[in-house]
Amino acid sequence: MASASERREELKAVFHEASSCVRCPQLAAGRTTVVFGSGNADADLMFVGEAPGANEDKQGVPFVGQAGKLLDTLLGEIGLTRGDVFVCNVLKCRPPGNRDPLPQEIDNCQDYLFRQLELIEPKVVCTLGNFATKLLRGDPTGITRLHGRVEERLIGPRRVRLYPIYHPAAALYTPAMAEILRADFRRLPELLALPVLDQPEPIVEPEVVPDPEPVIDEPDLVYDEQLGLF
Ligand code: SF4
Repeated sequence: MASASERREELKAVFHEASSCVRCPQLAAGRTTVVFGSGNADADLMFVGEAPGANEDKQGVPFVGQAGKLLDTLLGEIGLTRGDVFVCNVLKCRPPGNRDPLPQEIDNCQDYLFRQLELIEPKVVCTLGNFATKLLRGDPTGITRLHGRVEERLIGPRRVRLYPIYHPAAALYTPAMAEILRADFRRLPELLALPVLDQPEPIVEPEVVPDPEPVIDEPDLVYDEQLGLF
C-alpha cells in the first residue's frame, strides 16, 4: 500500500502529464491553463464540479471568483479550509464559451479523475450541481431530487460515499438555494466521521511473460566441394 507522500508524488506526476494534454484538440487549443485541481493530496473530502470557467482557466485553480468564495465560506462554517479538501472538475480544460462538455471530451478526461480518486483516496465525494452528479452516478436523475442524499458508489477505482449538492454558482443569487446548500454542508462532518468503505480488490495486471526467444533453424551445412568447407 502506498504511503501518503508516495501518493502525493504520483499525483504530481499525473498533474504534469495533464498539463500538456492535447487529447481534446479544441480544448487544448483554446485554454490558457489546464485546471487539474487543488487542495490536499490526502483529503477525505473531494469536490467535483463540471469544468473550469473563464477565471479558473486564467488562474489554473478551480472554484475562484464568487462561487469559490461561497465554497470557502461554507467550508469555514464546518471548520474546514481549502487546504483540508481537494477540489477539481470532471473536465480539466475550459470548453469554449462555457459550452457543455462533449461526450468524447468527458471520455478523454475521465482517466485523470479516476487517477485523482485512486491517489487521493477520499472517503466522501461531493458532486457540485447537475452535470457532475449525473455523470458520476451514470444516471439522468437531477440534483433537485438528489441533493443531500448520500449513497455508496464505486467511481472508477474507488468506493466512496457520494454526496450530491447544489453548485455554489447556482446558489449565489438564490438565497433559498444557498440555505439548502448550507444545510447540506452541515451534514458533511457526520459523513466524514464514518469509517472508510471497503475497497474493491485492486486489479492485478497479469505478469507479462516474455515470448521465448524464437528458435532460428540453422541452415543445414552444405559441403562446398569447391572450397572444401562446410
Ligand atoms: S479536457 Fe482533459 S483530456 Fe481533454 S485536453 Fe484537457 S486535460 Fe486533456
